[in-house]
Amino acid sequence: MKPSPFDYHAPADLDEALDVLARVGPDGGKVLAGGQSLIPLLNMRLAAPAHLVDINRLTGPDIGLATVEAGPGGVRVGALARHAAVERSAPAAAVQPLLGQALRLVAHPVIRNRGTVVGSLVHADPSAELPAVLALLGGSVRLAHRGGEREVAAAEFFTGPMESAAAPGELAVSAFFPALPPRSGTAFCEVARRHGDYAMAGVAAAVTLDEDFRIVAARVACVSVGPIPVVVDVADACGGRPAASADWAAAAAAVRDRIEPEADIHATADYRRHLTGVLAVRALRSAAVEAAGEEGT
Ligand SMILES: Cc1cc2nc3c(=O)[nH]c(=O)nc-3n(C[C@H](O)[C@H](O)[C@H](O)COP(=O)(O)OP(=O)(O)OC[C@H]3O[C@@H](n4cnc5c(N)ncnc54)[C@H](O)[C@@H]3O)c2cc1C
Repeated sequence: MKPSPFDYHAPADLDEALDVLARVGPDGGKVLAGGQSLIPLLNMRLAAPAHLVDINRLTGPDIGLATVEAGPGGVRVGALARHAAVERSAPAAAVQPLLGQALRLVAHPVIRNRGTVVGSLVHADPSAELPAVLALLGGSVRLAHRGGEREVAAAEFFTGPMESAAAPGELAVSAFFPALPPRSGTAFCEVARRHGDYAMAGVAAAVTLDEDFRIVAARVACVSVGPIPVVVDVADACGGRPAASADWAAAAAAVRDRIEPEADIHATADYRRHLTGVLAVRALRSAAVEAAGEEGT
């Protein structure tokens, strides 16, 4: 199938993009970033916007949409930073390794060369890795509209399957992924039918240890088991103990209790629940090993 007709806009700067979006927003304007999710939706006529606002020309350094900025507090990713650019950014990996750990699991290199991190967040697929990363870390998305901008916390950003807080007329200009305290580790584990497919289930984990290598914080974010990423704090289940003797099975049980997976052609709900528990143990254990580093092993 071919897309239904639309008007194509290619603004040259941010003001022009926001003007066009303000004008067409209520009539079904859609932002085109990497196009790796939107173009298939258009071709299958699962989306039929009257206007497409292509932001790919907004790459100038003065606009700052294609940047990946890593600082002590975290990593800010601009709306035109491709998955591949973030995956390969050494400064971003040093500040927030979970980004690279998750991005290696997103689709295939060809798609990562084109798709954007911010586009993935706005697309808000409950099976996607990056929304889980943002939710786990308590990050945020900056949304601009004509005349202003607002920063929306991850907890309010994902509102349903394929639904985010980005309103018609708004452009997501960047996302912020906070750093974790010292002696923290992260991991992302998932199972997909084929490498690069969306995961049947996946778990991102973050663990923080104190100076005696006892767990002081532990949480996971699960994908493909709810309408939005499901964040579960498992510090009570496994906290206070040395990482080496943590009760990961109790943490997995807490995770299984919190999720509400659905069945589809790929897996039953029971299988997804079981798989998520297994992946939670793997991810938490490996995050704890990373947190301990060479000193704690
Ligand atoms: C074969 C295949 C496999 C894939 N596998 C995975 C996978 O395993 N995991 C995964 O996470 N993803 C996967 N993807 C999706 C891929 O990661 C996309 O790149 C990503 O979901 C969207 O990024 P994009 O830049 O291509 O956005 P687009 O396709 O351009 O846009 C997606 C949606 O977000 C909106 N949007 C985009 N940018 C903005 C913005 N700045 N402001 C406001 N709205 C915006 C668009 O209007 C549209 O509604 C796969 C895609 C394909 C084709």
